[in-house]
Amino acid sequence: MSISRILIANRGEIALRIHRAAHEMGIETVAVHSTADADAMHVRLADHAICIGPPPAKDSYLNVAAIISAAEISHADAIHPGYGFLSENAQFAEIVEAHDIIWIGPKPEHIRTMGDKVEAKRTAGALGLPLVPGSDGAVSDPKVAAKIADKVGYPVIIKAASGGGGRGMKVCDSPDQLDTLMKQAGNEAKAAFGDDTVYIEKYLGNPRHIEFQVFGDGNGNAIHLGERDCSLQRRHQKVLEEATSPVITPEERQRMGGIVSKAMADMGYRGAGTIEFLWENGEFYFIEMNTRLQVEHPVTEMITGVDLVREQIRVADGRPLSVQQDEIEFKGHAIECRINAEDPWTFAPSPGLVTAYHAPGGMHVRVDSGLYAGYRIPPYYDSMIAKLIVYGRTREGCIMRLKRALEEMVVDGVKTSIPLHCALLEEPDILNGDYSIKWLEDWMAKRGA
Ligand code: ADP
Repeated sequence: MSISRILIANRGEIALRIHRAAHEMGIETVAVHSTADADAMHVRLADHAICIGPPPAKDSYLNVAAIISAAEISHADAIHPGYGFLSENAQFAEIVEAHDIIWIGPKPEHIRTMGDKVEAKRTAGALGLPLVPGSDGAVSDPKVAAKIADKVGYPVIIKAASGGGGRGMKVCDSPDQLDTLMKQAGNEAKAAFGDDTVYIEKYLGNPRHIEFQVFGDGNGNAIHLGERDCSLQRRHQKVLEEATSPVITPEERQRMGGIVSKAMADMGYRGAGTIEFLWENGEFYFIEMNTRLQVEHPVTEMITGVDLVREQIRVADGRPLSVQQDEIEFKGHAIECRINAEDPWTFAPSPGLVTAYHAPGGMHVRVDSGLYAGYRIPPYYDSMIAKLIVYGRTREGCIMRLKRALEEMVVDGVKTSIPLHCALLEEPDILNGDYSIKWLEDWMAKRGA
């Protein structure tokens, strides 16, 4: 093993998650943090801590020069980027490697290819993944756009090649709107991402969001760890995730899992990745690939028993995956609730001092969070403050345990999304697993929120 000290280029629960995996492998950690995060749990637990700048992310967590300097002065031999921030920045990955520091992530060229949605779709198609019908690459000519939209049928969705986080998309219902919406989408994409390239897809009316966890060793071996169902979304932000999906049979998991793992093996993919699909009427449609660890990775860990961060570190260190496909079993059911510091009904952020905190416990209950009583949630970053992940032998048992765990959880001093999760777990559609990506917003609208 050559990695002996990992710099964690992130904050919050994921920084703590990485610290834990590292220490369980006997590896030291270096926390880098903004001035706003000096009192964060992972900063206190890490072996070394270095302040890299003021609160705005662009001056600290996105400050490449400061992070590389911190790695050099702390003699870190590897960098784990977590999710968000610099995790899908191919140039950062290249800079890390150019400094002879191990990048705990996919090969930079794969980050770059999959970060451009037009390229990603082309690559996915070439690797044999089923695609959403639409344009073959970028479209700029209105006449070509009209032809494609007619062929796939309205409504269509116009998407920015550089889009992300659910931004840069326009749904078009009829031919007379197409020209205007194409122009708007292009202008908005230019303003938001500095790139006006757009492409067209058929707009699926009521799909589920189902994603596959994949893992490659970078040498042509790859496995899949089954799917997660992340259909419960608000403004394209995931709220609750589960594994396995209530609508995917073991045969279908094996079939699609085989397709995605073969695609990753053919690519020579290294590390953890997620292949996202929309799923409608029994068909999968590739939408994008995330070349990093996902927020919702623990549900996969719960049903497979594989520590994904540990595998990331092993593979980055040039070692083989510790499990083979035929050793992976999908046992039981897991659900994750994202707990945010926000008003549960208006979603307005609610940072501030946590006056009391109690994490639920008991069998098969996992809480990934850096919270403690007396912690002040800074207003500068994402509002997610905890993930509650619960396992059960059956989906029904998992839901009962999740309700019990939510009842036990106490976060005083700020508003949280706990009441939203409690209300969701009373809904027959959720209990039956009968929901699509539209469900949550329709439900909120019905409640008059
Ligand atoms: P981003 O990178 O911005 O997250 P995605 O391509 O992953 O963009 O799409 C985000 C979300 O937008 C999806 O989870 C889905 O809710 C919706 N969406 C994307 N493409 C389509 C489509 N072709 N039809 C219907 N909904 C779509």
